[in-house]
Amino acid sequence: MTDDYEDDYTPPAPSDPQESLDEVREAALRAGLEAYELDEGDLATLEGEPVEQREALPILAIVGRPNVGKSTLINRIIGRRLAVVEDTPGVTRDRVTYEAEWAGRDFLLMDTGGWESGVTGIDLSVAQSAEAAMELADAMLFVVDATVGPTATDEKVVKLLRKTKKPVVLVANKVDGPQGELEAAALWNLGLGEPYPVSALHGRGVGDLLDVAVGALPTEARMVDDEGSPRRIALVGRPNVGKSSLLNKLADSERAVVNELAGTTRDPVDELIEVDGELFTFIDTAGIRRRVHLSQGADYYASLRTSAAIQRAELALVLLDGSVPLTEQDLRILSEVVDAGRAIVMVVNKWDLVGEEERFMFERSFEKDLTHLTWAARVNLSALTGWHTNRLKRAMDEALTNWDRRISTGKLNTFLGELVSAHPHPVRGGKQPKILFATQASTRPPTFVLFTSGFLDPQYRRYIERRLRETFDFEGTPIHISVRVREKRGRR
Ligand code: GDP
Ligand code: GDP
Repeated sequence: MTDDYEDDYTPPAPSDPQESLDEVREAALRAGLEAYELDEGDLATLEGEPVEQREALPILAIVGRPNVGKSTLINRIIGRRLAVVEDTPGVTRDRVTYEAEWAGRDFLLMDTGGWESGVTGIDLSVAQSAEAAMELADAMLFVVDATVGPTATDEKVVKLLRKTKKPVVLVANKVDGPQGELEAAALWNLGLGEPYPVSALHGRGVGDLLDVAVGALPTEARMVDDEGSPRRIALVGRPNVGKSSLLNKLADSERAVVNELAGTTRDPVDELIEVDGELFTFIDTAGIRRRVHLSQGADYYASLRTSAAIQRAELALVLLDGSVPLTEQDLRILSEVVDAGRAIVMVVNKWDLVGEEERFMFERSFEKDLTHLTWAARVNLSALTGWHTNRLKRAMDEALTNWDRRISTGKLNTFLGELVSAHPHPVRGGKQPKILFATQASTRPPTFVLFTSGFLDPQYRRYIERRLRETFDFEGTPIHISVRVREKRGRR
């Protein structure tokens, strides 16, 4: 092994002495790793194969009237209880999308059942959710209760769904045993193709259903990352925080470029906008401009859009209202962006309304709730007056640059060597875990893989992240650190 490695190794002609030291060190650590049991994935990582990146996941939406078993089906698919399954109509659920995996495909499940009934009536709210799904999702599961058969509400949704070009898979739920198959077959009449009989409650048929559903999702990535194509920006934030005002301000001052630059925008709802001389694709501007603040369920609809936009974006501009303290909804949107691994710029809007008092209140809530996000870039501005909107571009550039940042393996290992000698991991049960080798497995966001001889304390991981951020510039981007504990060969 060692010989092979040395055969391949052509030392670069280093000009920088530190760089060559880094490389010598890297080679030594790499060689040391050979005493450990590594699997295929490890070897691939060591050869520089990127670990899976968090691309835009295809969206599978679940549509159907109340009580047909949508939540049960979601739980079944994601394999755990939903954070919130509430019975109060009109209460917005905590999350609207969930990451799921089937047969090696990752996708997002979108729960459109969150604004059921209430004053708008069942028909309208189910129709609204179907429309949202048709617009935002890549494919849909339409769930019908086979024990009840199609109701008038179901028929109305079917009329809507027939209009979409996107795939719709008909789910005949509550078929708990073979005797229900007949009832399920009756659903052929809906004209949506083959009904798939399942029992969301017991799991019966769900695997077959997922095979079909996943097969219906588009395989090509939702967006092509052509070098030089405009970067994709999601402008998100709770209702009334000033998204459309900011969008208009940016578009007015620079004049929106609404044309088809070959292959750049794939979605008619997106818009190319020039910000300080550079074109960006602003995602789902149509959704921001179409202001639906009136009807019940609008907030829920907004959450669905927000989730979809974050998925498709590289960077999220998260708008916050500086004139009032942060809300739960602000925090939820921020954590959704972080979880999705997107670059972030926090835009604190309405700064023209912020006096001393408001400022104090806002900063206090900011310090209390966002200690984990001190790395996110922040711009205070006023979309109304345009004050400081010229600072956006720089913050966006920096966040994206850092999201793309790659640290060479040599540098990274030198950094960790220094970190460990300055502050070794505490001894646990007579042993001290060693960091054997580290490499940055991917960018967007920066993702690091650490090979170690034992588990690292959570505090120590946080320490590593903090020092990484202090040493290299990662402002505006989440970073991931994955630790792979490996044993010495021949120990087992
Ligand atoms: P949602 O309103 O569409 O989200 O429906 P829920 O998932 O809350 O389910 C409504 C009711 O139907 C609950 O009492 C579930 O336990 C029940 N249910 C869901 N799926 C099945 C199933 O496959 N078989 C049976 N027998 N009951 C089910
Ligand atoms: P959206 O729902 O997030 O798109 O929010 P809008 O852009 O529709 O703004 C909601 C309200 O806040 C409107 O009345 C705007 O005029 C107002 N608004 C937006 N930005 C600012 C700002 O910077 N300062 C002030 N004073 N008001 C603003």
